[in-house]
Amino acid sequence: MTENAAHSPATGLIAFLGLGHMGGPMAANLIKAGHQVIGFDPVPAAVEAALADGIPMASTAHEAAAKAAVVLTMLPSGKHVLDAYQGVDGPGLLSIAKPDTLFLDCSTINVDEAREAAALAVAAGHRSVDAPVSGGVVGAEAGTLTFMVGALPEDFETVKPVLELMGKRIVHCGDHGAGQAAKVCNNMILGVSMIAVAEAFVLGEKLGLTHQALFDVASNASGQCWALTTNCPVPGPVPTSPANRDYQPGFAGALMAKDLRLALNALESTGVAAEMGPLASRIYDAFAAGDGAGRDFSGIITEIRDKSV
Ligand code: NAD
Repeated sequence: MTENAAHSPATGLIAFLGLGHMGGPMAANLIKAGHQVIGFDPVPAAVEAALADGIPMASTAHEAAAKAAVVLTMLPSGKHVLDAYQGVDGPGLLSIAKPDTLFLDCSTINVDEAREAAALAVAAGHRSVDAPVSGGVVGAEAGTLTFMVGALPEDFETVKPVLELMGKRIVHCGDHGAGQAAKVCNNMILGVSMIAVAEAFVLGEKLGLTHQALFDVASNASGQCWALTTNCPVPGPVPTSPANRDYQPGFAGALMAKDLRLALNALESTGVAAEMGPLASRIYDAFAAGDGAGRDFSGIITEIRDKSV
């Protein structure tokens, strides 16, 4: 067991629910650090991969959660999280977990759902933390994720040493739901800025600019942003960007469409007079409904180019 794990108040057993693209490598990093983990996933392929990584697996979520100090969820959506907490055709995890269990949700879900999940957990006598991530599968494998955390201060101190085993930046954003709020705001910036960068490159092409010339200027001028300098949507200027491998993700269009729908929900529920966020959401919904779901989100540039006269 590592120093961190040995001294963490959350050192007890972690029930890790959802061992997919992200959860699998995250749980493997906890095991490598010497933490006690028991996993559960309903999909046999995920179970096999987890067992191969040395993660002990339970046959039900209840079996894993009943004996855990921390119930960590890494699930596709807020509905999955709320269904698991409350139960669908029987008791939910909140009613079978030991009192004062720490429910740690790392999935990306609606801010309102995160607040609802936290209220339910607290009402059932537990603790709640929302800690969505950025960094993708590569970050999950390397243990370099950024965690955006919504938690009471004492719960943040409890989970921080655990999160440090899976990530390199752990940011306490505020109370319950604040982690999801930070995630949704960040990804709205990302979606909007990628569209802007892609439109600028297509305009540059029409105006006779080389990609390199536009990159050399914008990356050192006021157009500078992550969508340009790290995930550049044209091949060449940034050799590691997905554009150089035919837009293999990276960050898939389906995930960007999902995150922008969460941003749209948050914009609507708060009444913000936004124009760009909702437009970006429509653009990425259309991209994901076509062949963009499995392509990197920077592939939006090919749609813009194809539609241009
Ligand atoms: P995934 O679909 O690969 O994995 C989700 C896993 O949850 C699946 O294996 C599924 O079988 C399992 N599952 C579903 N219901 C369950 C239940 N009740 N109990 C236990 N397991 C259950 O998805 P992913 O790519 O790993 O993403 C997980 C979350 O992380 C999502 O909310 C996603 O938006 C977010 N996220 C993903 C990325 C990424 O690059 N993939 C990046 C940042 C955040």
